[in-house]
Amino acid sequence: MKKRKVGIMGGSFDPIHLGHLVVANEVLNIYNLDEIIFVPTGNPPHKDKLRADSFHRYMMVYMAVLSNDKFSVSDFEIRKNDKSYTVNTLKHFRQLYEDTDLYFITGADAIIELPHWHEAAEVIKLCKLVAVSRPGISMKEARQRIDEIENILGGTIEMLQVPMLQISSTDIRGRFEKGISAKYLLPESVEQYIMKNKLYKS
Ligand code: ATP
Ligand code: MG
Repeated sequence: MKKRKVGIMGGSFDPIHLGHLVVANEVLNIYNLDEIIFVPTGNPPHKDKLRADSFHRYMMVYMAVLSNDKFSVSDFEIRKNDKSYTVNTLKHFRQLYEDTDLYFITGADAIIELPHWHEAAEVIKLCKLVAVSRPGISMKEARQRIDEIENILGGTIEMLQVPMLQISSTDIRGRFEKGISAKYLLPESVEQYIMKNKLYKS
């Protein structure tokens, strides 16, 4: 029987934007994945402060993926009170899905931090790591860094060139703070949700 292929995309999604969605769709197409699960982080070890609480971040992802039957959102990390580590999330999905290859999707900016992740060597064993291009990160430098990481940790990390969108949650939060339009950078439903709940007002 053909093995299922499931993509996992972790992130703070504070808020989710079109950069995340385009990346997910490209990886789905290129690796012929059956589905992609977005996993908003609860209390991320590497980010001191999130602006929107986990309920709102979950809701925004929920709305962003509503129209795509291959995308879904998991509350696995936000349900926990302790810090969320990718290694635990991957173990959870490995248990949940038998006969499935997991693809963990990150941007090039996130993957170069891999040596600092909790149990990084275990993370590489549990999934196929896919690092996608992101504006501001040179693919040549990222490739060199990834080669070093592969040497240290063992395992392989795939790099993928995807259509690049210079969009970040940090920039979007700044726009809502200043009252500058963020239209077309994120789904309209998410934009409306942010305004209705006054999420990024200082
Ligand atoms: P912030 O500015 O708050 O860090 P972000 O835009 O980087 O937000 P995250 O939630 O931190 O979004 O990112 C989740 C994952 O998506 C990370 O692996 C990140 O590298 C990737 N990612 C985010 N935006 C892009 C983008 N525009 N292009 C490619 N990858 C992206
Ligand atoms: Mg980020």
